[in-house]
Amino acid sequence: MKPQDVRISAHILPGLSVTTSALPLRLRFLAMLPRLWRHRLPMAGLVVGVLLALIVIDRIAIHATRTIVLEDIREEAAAAADLRVAMLRSEIEKQRTLPVVLAQDPDVHRALMDPTGNAAPALNAKLEALAAATRASVIYLMTPQGHTIAASNHRLASSFVGSNYSFRPYFQRAMQEGQAEHFALGTVSHQPGLYLAQKVSDKGRVLGVIVVKTEFHGVEADWRRQNEPTFITDDRDIVLVSSVPQWRFHTTRPIPAEQKAALRTSLQFGDAPLNLLPITARPDDTVEATVPPARNARTFMDVRTGIPTTSWTLHVLAPVAPTLPLAEATIHVLILLGGVLFLGGGAVYLGRRQRLSHERRRGQLARRHLEARVESRTAELQVANAQLRTEMAARRSAREAADALQDELVQASKLAMLGQIAASVAHEVNQPVAAIRAFSDNAQTFLQRGHAQAAQENLQTIGALTERIGAITSELRAFSRKAPREVSTVSVQEVMDGALLLVGHRLRLQNVALTVNMPAQPLRVKSDRIRLEQVLVNLFQNAMEALANQQDARITLTAQALGTEVRITFADNGPGLSAAVLDALFTPFTTTKPTGLGLGLVICHDIIAECGGRLEARNEGGAIFTMILPGAE
Ligand code: ADP
Repeated sequence: MKPQDVRISAHILPGLSVTTSALPLRLRFLAMLPRLWRHRLPMAGLVVGVLLALIVIDRIAIHATRTIVLEDIREEAAAAADLRVAMLRSEIEKQRTLPVVLAQDPDVHRALMDPTGNAAPALNAKLEALAAATRASVIYLMTPQGHTIAASNHRLASSFVGSNYSFRPYFQRAMQEGQAEHFALGTVSHQPGLYLAQKVSDKGRVLGVIVVKTEFHGVEADWRRQNEPTFITDDRDIVLVSSVPQWRFHTTRPIPAEQKAALRTSLQFGDAPLNLLPITARPDDTVEATVPPARNARTFMDVRTGIPTTSWTLHVLAPVAPTLPLAEATIHVLILLGGVLFLGGGAVYLGRRQRLSHERRRGQLARRHLEARVESRTAELQVANAQLRTEMAARRSAREAADALQDELVQASKLAMLGQIAASVAHEVNQPVAAIRAFSDNAQTFLQRGHAQAAQENLQTIGALTERIGAITSELRAFSRKAPREVSTVSVQEVMDGALLLVGHRLRLQNVALTVNMPAQPLRVKSDRIRLEQVLVNLFQNAMEALANQQDARITLTAQALGTEVRITFADNGPGLSAAVLDALFTPFTTTKPTGLGLGLVICHDIIAECGGRLEARNEGGAIFTMILPGAE
């Protein structure tokens, strides 16, 4: 095999590696652990980096979310505040018309101008009915001295009738300016409310002051039903009306001590301490407030709206929870989810990339390993090939030497046989030579006697005899010539004739009867003519030696075609092959003859084998040799 014939396909490689993707997920993760540990530093850096990025993104997103959500809450609260302001304003406006209208009322004028006080009961009833109809808290009429002469609450124990309110700022301002509005705590009812005072005049003469007090219980109750604490502050930031009763008369900013003392003296807010509201402003426009009865502070948007036609401000505290925390939680969750997905995706991507590169590396290693093995195997094979070639060359030269030796042996054997058959051949030649002498003598005699015709016939016979001598000598020359083996189509008949030319005389001399059985059709075999003749001569020689001194000696030569082969049997009726010879048949130096070499049969065997045939020997009434040769057309 040539080295380049050695090919080991690399497609077996995938079979060498066990891919981790074939493992279950848990085992795959465990299989990845050593690799993860190897890359722990870059991976830890990556994780920390991603976490920092996530924190930054989270901060930014939270800030944006807060801004958006707070703006939404503010807008919603502002809308609610506007609505409340509108309702409050319509309430106040309605109440405001009352003192203006009453200041023109004839009954009011009459009561003020009647010093007997007889008109007061009728006016009391009227004011009572009016207050009930307009939901005014109380309506009452005072003289220019501040003395109350009629009131809607005239029936109650806390009736204002007979009380003097000249000290109240709204009275004093109304007397001076014609009308006044004043928010204060009622001195009798202790209920806060807005006092709307209107001076009553008749043709330039001041008759008195009519006052409508309106309270905001209904409004506060309405506000309480809403979720957002709502309150009104005046221009000094004091809470006047509030959905949280505890906050009333608290302040949104600290009030200076002297102002506080003055307010308390005025009894505007009774003995309220005017403490600060439990509301703390935060930097992001929100406030922290503890709304009773809750004890924990909550975060609100403090949305303020001025109440037109008053110096008041309406505050709506819109809770940021749950909208803002929910939005923030959603953002946290989304960003966390994004981070987890990113890290997970990154881990999966890195894992897959590592696995692929690992598998690729393993594939490369396996390929390199295989290539190295192929190379070393190729080198081994090259060495083996070189050895083989050397051995083949050595064998060839040994074979050539053996062949040369064989040729030498064949030639030596031939020459040895020639020595044995020389006498026979000489006699074979001598016979026609002697005959030629006799015929030439006779021809001379016939010529002397003038018998030319007879002399000519003798000369013709001499010519025929010289041809016979020529045939014998040329046969002898061909037989003795050392020629290389040459397999060709050979006539069995011709080979037999040639052999008989060489051994015929001896056969006759020994009185051996020869029987030749040949088919009518000429038989042809593939063989070397001279060597096959040598075999026959050898067999004749051996047979004649075995038949020496034997009466009725006989040799039978039979040739016949058997399928594609030709079988030639050579039988004698001698003593046959001895047991020793049969045991070591065709083995060199097997001989029973004192001067024998024991090579003849070995050479015959080899010659037949070289022609692609075989030589067998056995005993059957004598020795019988069988040559089987490949037939030829
Ligand atoms: P050699 O003639 O030198 O002994 P051979 O190889 O020709 O060598 O013969 C080997 C032996 O085979 C002979 O010595 C003889 O004993 C025996 N042998 C050969 N041919 C015959 C035969 N026709 N009859 C009996 N013995 C034979």
